Amino acid sequence: MDFGLTDEQRSIVEVTRAFVERELYPHEEEVERTGVLRPELAAEIRTKALTAGLYAANMPEEVGGAGLDTVTWVLYEKELGRAGYALQYCGVPRPSNILLAGTEEQRERYLYPCVRGERIDCLAMTEPGAGSDMRAMRTRATRDGAGDDAGWVIRGTKHFISHADEADFVILVAVTGADDAGRAELTTFLVDLDTPGLSVHDGYRNVSHRGYTNSILDLDDVRVGADAVLGEVGKGFELSGQWLGSTRLQVAASCLGRAERALGLSVQHAATREQFGQPIGRFQGVGFKLADMATELRAAELMTLHAAWKHDQGTATDADIAMAKLKATEMLALVSDEAIQIHGGMGLMDELPLERIWRDARIERIWDGTSEIQRHIISRSLLRPLGA
Ligand SMILES: Cc1cc2nc3c(=O)[nH]c(=O)nc-3n(C[C@H](O)[C@H](O)[C@H](O)COP(=O)(O)OP(=O)(O)OC[C@H]3O[C@@H](n4cnc5c(N)ncnc54)[C@H](O)[C@@H]3O)c2cc1C
Repeated sequence: MDFGLTDEQRSIVEVTRAFVERELYPHEEEVERTGVLRPELAAEIRTKALTAGLYAANMPEEVGGAGLDTVTWVLYEKELGRAGYALQYCGVPRPSNILLAGTEEQRERYLYPCVRGERIDCLAMTEPGAGSDMRAMRTRATRDGAGDDAGWVIRGTKHFISHADEADFVILVAVTGADDAGRAELTTFLVDLDTPGLSVHDGYRNVSHRGYTNSILDLDDVRVGADAVLGEVGKGFELSGQWLGSTRLQVAASCLGRAERALGLSVQHAATREQFGQPIGRFQGVGFKLADMATELRAAELMTLHAAWKHDQGTATDADIAMAKLKATEMLALVSDEAIQIHGGMGLMDELPLERIWRDARIERIWDGTSEIQRHIISRSLLRPLGA
């Protein structure tokens, strides 16, 4: 097995890291202090990301993206992940790859403009009564007339919808029927956010990822055409499942970047901060923390890259991706906590990025499938073959 990076991968890592350090780090303090990513600043970073070729780099070449394989894309996500989330995600958007499931007409209207930096997407599955259990959702789309050409009327409420306040359209999942077992059948729709009946309200204040907003979407008799259906009617659960694999790898990769940053600061501090007449890193109580942090980070990185490599081979399972997401998010919780411990009181002060990385780490075990849901996926993959 070759664990080395190709020249192209090394160059992508270097270019992305240089961009993060030059264009994103200098604005972290402002976003943390104000809790807002100014629209002008976001627009300025997007323009620079477009010029640098980093914008929408998750997309295949044939739709205008960078055409990275999954391993290289994970390396790129890891570098972006070093910076504050609002800056790295809203400044350098990566459109949902679920948009690749669209017809050519839908691609023209939604996907290509996202890749060119002209439109922004958001994705709405979660509802107040339906988080982990997607099929419990109440947002319902019903046919607006007879026949397959009939449009749809959508009613319901979504919450926790990331950056919907700056998006142009939403990839929305709604109930459109029930299967023979009575389980909800879901369908995915592409809906412009200025469609009459659709309103976007401010969501909740969040301890993690300041400046990265979440919204509540109210849909009150929102009428869309038959051409708003993304993929097949009744196959929204399966389509979301395909998309979730990539976002889970993205979450894992961005945790690696932040953990590496926290570890780097901790090693530096342990080597230079002196107490009792010697660098604190010489105390086993501190040195062993560094050893554990580095070991956990290496394990999470190898698991994430392995899942990405399997994805490139077409052999990745849901459990492979769940393990990577579980390990990387739980690793970041440990690493960011120990980084603060090693820095003592200064670790909690906002002069350093550590208290932010520690706060930001918390959400990673919740969104895109909680740690319990990842464990559920992994355990089912072990037990199902035995009929249990
Ligand atoms: C800031 C933020 C942004 C978000 N952005 C988006 C977005 O853009 N679009 C979107 O659609 N969603 C988004 N989400 C939603 C996110 O994906 C959900 O919060 C997540 O899936 C968990 O759902 P929940 O919060 O309703 O928790 P619940 O599903 O209610 O879970 C509560 C607890 O029960 C546990 N639990 C539930 N089911 C099981 C089970 N079967 N086995 C064991 N334990 C279980 C969970 O692990 C958790 O500990 C966002 C969330 C946040 C916080």
